[in-house]
Amino acid sequence: MSTKQILSRALGAYLGFACGDALGATVEFMSPKLIQKRYGVHRDIIGGGWLNLEAGQITDDTQMSLALGQAIVDHQGWSIQAVADNFVAWLESNPPDIGNTCRRGIMRYRDNGELFGLPRDDDAGNGACMRNLPVVLATLNRPDYFSDWSLQQSHITHNHPLSDAATLTLGRIANQLINGLDMDAWKQEAGQLIDQYGEFAYSPYPGKASGYIVDTVQTILHYFFSTDNFESCLVATVNQGADADTTGALAGMLAGARYGVEQIPERWLKQLDQQVVGQIRRQTAELIRLAELL
Ligand code: MN
Ligand code: MN
Repeated sequence: MSTKQILSRALGAYLGFACGDALGATVEFMSPKLIQKRYGVHRDIIGGGWLNLEAGQITDDTQMSLALGQAIVDHQGWSIQAVADNFVAWLESNPPDIGNTCRRGIMRYRDNGELFGLPRDDDAGNGACMRNLPVVLATLNRPDYFSDWSLQQSHITHNHPLSDAATLTLGRIANQLINGLDMDAWKQEAGQLIDQYGEFAYSPYPGKASGYIVDTVQTILHYFFSTDNFESCLVATVNQGADADTTGALAGMLAGARYGVEQIPERWLKQLDQQVVGQIRRQTAELIRLAELL
């Protein structure tokens, strides 16, 4: 695997993630039926949605990922304090959206300095899993660091075995894709998750795409494995509605890592907030450089 190929896939993952966020946000919390009635097939980054976004604007998914990634870049490695501090700064920046579990965890850290919460049954949302891509990129060659950093950053807000298992699995699949492993490896990784927690089984697809981590992972894996190009994977995923910005973002991460940045439609890249595109390009290059040193 050449550095150029690695970079194309890493950039595909991160820009693909942001495209999925911006594309899906328009139809977040809608049902597939309502999406169909209003848009036919929703396939363009047009903003709007319940957050009333500008076309190309991204939401908490991409913002939290950038906050996490910047902490890694600034410290040229891991500082959980720096990650938590960046989450606090983000919370105080008046973001367009923030999940309840994320808000609760970040406020706990801000008020008490506690870096993780006790396990809770209602921590099984997708908020920790959704923002973990920068850890994947920085630890491309270090599976030991990957598990450790992923769980630490997750537990700032989400402390739940299903969230942990999904975060590790999707991160490992993203790693395999970027490192050029084949479909057998990705399928095996997904299979191990289902062996461990049967509720993640995604075939036949149960059809729910909510922010519950089980629904989220089933949706992403179903559409990732049943499509054969970047655009159709994202379009199919977000038209499932519900937590469409987050399922779109995570599907975009996997599809972008699989097909490379070259397959992201030009019309989506052009529409995306160009400041965010610049941040993602710089951060990806820096995280990949760090991965080569670790
Ligand atoms: Mn969001
Ligand atoms: Mn969401």
